Amino acid sequence: MTRRRDEILKEMGLGPVWRLRADGDAAPEEKGTAACVPDTDSAEPSFGNTVHAATRDSSPVTRHPAPVAAPDDRRARIMRMDWSQLKSCVADCTVCPLHEKRTRTVFGVGDEKADWLFVGEGPGADEDAQGEPFVGQAGKLLDNMLAAIRLKRGHDVYIANVVKCRPPGNRNPAPEEARACEPHLQRQIELIQPRLIVALGRVAAVNLLAREASIASLRGQVHQYRGIPLVVTYHPAYLLRNLTDKAKAWADLCFAVDTMKGLQKRVSAAT
Ligand code: SF4
Repeated sequence: MTRRRDEILKEMGLGPVWRLRADGDAAPEEKGTAACVPDTDSAEPSFGNTVHAATRDSSPVTRHPAPVAAPDDRRARIMRMDWSQLKSCVADCTVCPLHEKRTRTVFGVGDEKADWLFVGEGPGADEDAQGEPFVGQAGKLLDNMLAAIRLKRGHDVYIANVVKCRPPGNRNPAPEEARACEPHLQRQIELIQPRLIVALGRVAAVNLLAREASIASLRGQVHQYRGIPLVVTYHPAYLLRNLTDKAKAWADLCFAVDTMKGLQKRVSAAT
């Protein structure tokens, strides 16, 4: 095992586990010795999180929202906003019905000039209470995922959601709700100018890419959001309930890192 691999696995909270052999002999076996190889089912990183509970509803989306423009004057106004204006705009927003049951809006958090932008679908109960995205168990898993690729919340990383208000009962945001909030996210992305976007889950992916597709078909490719490279992986809340897919998420993270390295090399070569 290479030193780098040791370090990554340590950051992910992975270590040797014991498994009973079929013949009854106990033998040490490293579980989750993940490598940067897509879809290796033998690689099963835990991201250091053994909590299985999840609150988010990740049931399949049956309708896909295209990024239909908000009314032109509203969109145009939002597209001229600076950070301060945009934050105020979101905090006061009552454009879609999600405002009715929110405790507070959840704007986004992190380095406002980050190279990495992670986008989820919407706030859950913990986020609604605290006003920050990904702060519950799914947030802890996301932080571990970031650590596994040597990233840290707030350091060259920005985290946002498709909708800024909690969908009641942690349901998926409705297409019209996602459309209503889309100018906010678009302006955030314009202000950040990330080098790479990572869509966390299918809802984020289909909204950013404006097309219906399964997450399986979207993974492992570099897509584009208004000229910015975008890759897709699973939502951390989904991974809390579907532990076997953590191996795929690890492969996605490795793919994202490789994509970022390629982008950085391209910039270096051009300068
Ligand atoms: Fe406004 Fe977005 Fe909240 Fe809807 S979800 S009320 S569009 S901030």
